[in-house]
Amino acid sequence: MKIRTLKYISLTSLFFSLLTLFANAQAGDNIPVVSDVKYTPYRSSIAFKVGTRTIPVTILQYGQPNGIVCINVHDNETASVEGAKAVLELTGGTLIKIENNKQRVVKFRLNGVTYGFDPNRIYSRIGIGQTLRDNRKYSKAAMEEIEKFAQSVLSLIPDTASCVVALHNNTDEAFSIRSYMVGGNRQRDARAVYANPLEDIDDIILTTDSLLYQQMADAGYNSIWQDNERAKRDGSLSIYYGERSRRYINIETQHGKVEQYRVMFEKLLLILTNETKKSPEKTEDSE
Ligand SMILES: [Zn+2]
Repeated sequence: MKIRTLKYISLTSLFFSLLTLFANAQAGDNIPVVSDVKYTPYRSSIAFKVGTRTIPVTILQYGQPNGIVCINVHDNETASVEGAKAVLELTGGTLIKIENNKQRVVKFRLNGVTYGFDPNRIYSRIGIGQTLRDNRKYSKAAMEEIEKFAQSVLSLIPDTASCVVALHNNTDEAFSIRSYMVGGNRQRDARAVYANPLEDIDDIILTTDSLLYQQMADAGYNSIWQDNERAKRDGSLSIYYGERSRRYINIETQHGKVEQYRVMFEKLLLILTNETKKSPEKTEDSE
């Protein structure tokens, strides 16, 4: 009971931190005020072996765990991490980050052969096979090695996470809201799509959850509700969590757009903390 009370208090304080954050934003002052910075993250690092390579995973814990777990798997997508950190300092939350020398594709050697994989295509066997082939070398041993790494990464995300937030950036117009609209190459992956013509087509959210989809669309952001049954099984985290009916959201802006990222991420955290405030008893039931 004591723990539940503490949890509720920490969520309440999170809500008030966000209120402060928004009050400052409304004052038209976009420059962070030093005194606003509330949480200095506790940093830890775990090293995982893949073949002969060691891949460090950094965990930044802002305040006490509050159910919001962010993950950055593509180490070259730095704007998303910068934007999210600016908000997490105020709200609290967990940030998990795969370190890969600012590269997207992870390379490793096994039995004298160099393999490569995309760390967002490894959360199913089909996905691992595909990403190994996309990177020109495949073997069963390499697949098993990557599968172990994927399981290790997933083990860092607690089952108690109320929302998993994936931090991504993309290249101008290569992957956008249009990919999910009629005629787009991912049209069948979407159950619903909202496109705002005033927004950059590269700035999108994609979620497994209908409520988060609706709320981010209502806020005016390009939004995709993933069709969790029909979407292509590509080994990505969105498919992994969609199959398990877990709440997952990917926020994505074009490379370099830190401020747009920060604003979208901040909106999401306000939604998540408002929900918690409205139904604290729900938090207790679910424990
Ligand atoms: Zn990415």
